[in-house]
Amino acid sequence: MKGGVIMEIMDFICIKCPLGCMIQAELENKEVRKVTGNTCSRGEDYVKKEIINPTRTVTSTVMVINGEIPMVPVKTKGDIPKDKIWDCMRVLSGIKVAAPVHIGDIIIENVAGTNVNIVATKDIKPLE
Ligand code: SF4
Repeated sequence: MKGGVIMEIMDFICIKCPLGCMIQAELENKEVRKVTGNTCSRGEDYVKKEIINPTRTVTSTVMVINGEIPMVPVKTKGDIPKDKIWDCMRVLSGIKVAAPVHIGDIIIENVAGTNVNIVATKDIKPLE
């Protein structure tokens, strides 16, 4: 129908704190018109971001060569678009780094074209 108004209701569970508020967003022609169910403003911000540009921090591990333990935990330095998570995980699955590894070391630059780096979150000493 040309020029018609498209109304939509979307339900969310806020993940910004353990309370987990059930939030409902009303959209009119894809624009957020009303947000209800949130106990605080972080819930409204979360829902709007989820609708417009959902992002996540990714955590994983990569293999360490000659390290005191065989894997090092890593994470994205910031959020990446949700639809890039699997690309990011695919890249990570093929990575090996040599010990020593230090917290904050950049393991991968610009992972999956997101302009976000993957960094180590633990020190790994080399084998004695
Ligand atoms: S809306 Fe506020 S109180 Fe509710 S879960 Fe989100 S952050 Fe917590």
